[in-house]
Amino acid sequence: MKTDIIDAVPAAFLTLGAGEYVHDSPTLRGEIYSGPPETLEARTAVGALSKLVHAADRAKDSSGRALSWRNYNVGASAVMFNFELGQFGLFDGFNVKPETGTSSLNLHAEQVAIAKGRSRGLNKVIGISVYADPFDDDANPNMHATLPPCSRCVQMFADIPEVSPNTLVLGSNLDLSVCELYTIASLTDPAIPKLVDEPFSLQTEDDLEHYDRVIRPAIFFTVMNLYTAS
Ligand SMILES: [Zn+2]
Repeated sequence: MKTDIIDAVPAAFLTLGAGEYVHDSPTLRGEIYSGPPETLEARTAVGALSKLVHAADRAKDSSGRALSWRNYNVGASAVMFNFELGQFGLFDGFNVKPETGTSSLNLHAEQVAIAKGRSRGLNKVIGISVYADPFDDDANPNMHATLPPCSRCVQMFADIPEVSPNTLVLGSNLDLSVCELYTIASLTDPAIPKLVDEPFSLQTEDDLEHYDRVIRPAIFFTVMNLYTAS
């Protein structure tokens, strides 16, 4: 079997911690769901917009476990599915680069999170949250409002079967006061706009209420169309 950068994550980093899970949800299975498969995925993606808010919190927590020689800590949390098995799960990752130089262990948060899901048989990343300090010249030279996945991760997303151009990305800064929501496709095609035009906050109860009441409904059809129009 072809191996890739996901399979390169050592088993020691694949243990599920508190709050990570695989849940059975039989209604997700294609054979039970009566509509066309792309509609099931679209509805799942819309549902994942709520799960991603939780994932942003998870990513924040897991960044504290990063092993970085320069104390640049990244957290990620992936919302993953397997529609054949009727399962979904949430998996956390953090960056691991304890020494400088290229020969040492070098794992990225997104890579570790997805590796955990793959190791549990989940084969589709519907959304992933990425948490880091965006004010870092090395990691974010173009000074995006939130840290975008690095070029190595963008290449990984293109190479692995779990991620599609429609996979949702929620980026956030250190206190979740600046968040961005976009798709993998927009990472490589600047003509594709973010799902939400302006950065938004997920910091306070009011912010979360605004997200549920205003932002999610506003992008409902956009996200549905990602899956049903292609
Ligand atoms: Zn990366």
